Order: sequence, then C-alpha cells, then structure tokens
Amino acid sequence: MIRNGQLVTEKEAIKIDDKWRIAEKLKEFNILEPDFEILLKEQKNKTNVEPDPMELIHSIALNQAGRIKDPEALSYHYYKMAIFMNEQSKDFWDYLVKARLYKLYELKRNGIKKVKIITSHYSCPNCMESKNKEYTVDEAIEKMPIPNKSCTHIAVDPAKGFCECVYDSSDEIVVDLAKLYELSRISKKENIKKPSLLARIYKWMLKN
Ligand SMILES: [Zn+2]
Ligand SMILES: [Zn+2]
Repeated sequence: MIRNGQLVTEKEAIKIDDKWRIAEKLKEFNILEPDFEILLKEQKNKTNVEPDPMELIHSIALNQAGRIKDPEALSYHYYKMAIFMNEQSKDFWDYLVKARLYKLYELKRNGIKKVKIITSHYSCPNCMESKNKEYTVDEAIEKMPIPNKSCTHIAVDPAKGFCECVYDSSDEIVVDLAKLYELSRISKKENIKKPSLLARIYKWMLKN
C-alpha cells in the first residue's frame, strides 16, 4: 500500500489513516494536539488501558458543549458531533435533535415567530414531503418535525438515514426587512438619503 508516496504494509497504512483521521477531528473540534497527547497519557495512567482516541475526542466535545452559551454556536457544535458519531457508525440521533433544537432557540431569541423546513438537493423523498412546511417556532420546538425519523439519506453509516433538513425563518417581516436592507444599501450607493424613510417604515412594521 502507498501512503505519502511511500510503500507501507497494510498494518502501517491503517495506522497512518487512523492518525490522519484523529488529526482531522482534533482540528474540527479545536483541540490542540499537545493537549490531546497529555489527556491520552493521563487517561492511560488512570485506567491502565490504552485509551480510544475517538472516545476521548467525544468526551472532550461533550465537555465543550457544556461551556457554549450561544444557541447558534451550540447548534453547529451538536451538528458536528452528530456527523462525528455517524462516521463511526454510532448513534448520532440525540445530537442531531439538539442541533435542530438549538437553532430554533436561536431563531426564537431573534424574535422570529414562524419557521419553515428547508430541504436540500440531496434530501430523500420522505424529507421532500415536508419541503417549505411552516410551523410557529413554539410548535416546531414542541413537535420537532426535523430531524426526520424516516429519512433515508445516507451520510456515512448506511444503518440510519441522516436528515440534513434545517429550519429557517418564515416571518414575512424578516423577508421584508431583507428587502428594505437591500433598498438602503442601494440608496447609499446612489447617495440618496433614504434611511429616515426606512426607519419610519421599520417602526410602522413593528407596530403592525
Ligand atoms: Zn431525508
Ligand atoms: Zn430531512
């Protein structure tokens, strides 16, 4: 087998691949390699058995989650953890649920009232059925329509579908504000003084 342009035995190749996979995951979870080496040694001394690096990365990631206060960042962190588990053919479901739930908390925190389900080009037929389906944020938090339990899209592990559907705001006011923002951007470019008008429209919209 060939690794880094060198001929190696199969055993060596597996070792190199494992090392590469670990390094990739350490980068993904912002764990410094020297810190990780220390933790590996500590655990080995404590338990007297060779620690599983992936298990250790998992417990560090869980620990990190406990310290993240921003719901959006937490949503992304749990999504990464879900993928991490799926790559190892382990149960990822609870992490994916949390990833979607914290996104809802983030939208709610931003004052969003209504959300819709966004599918992607590789969504499975089961997920496509709920494309653009709308919920109030509270309804979505209660019912948790995504991740879709009957998703058949395979990410890595063929044992269970990995639903990639996400929530996005469906509030008309947000869409209108995006349009207004665009208008203000254009007006600034054309040097027309419209911001006061914009502020008036915005105030009016919030009142209604
Ligand atoms: Zn699906
Ligand atoms: Zn889905």
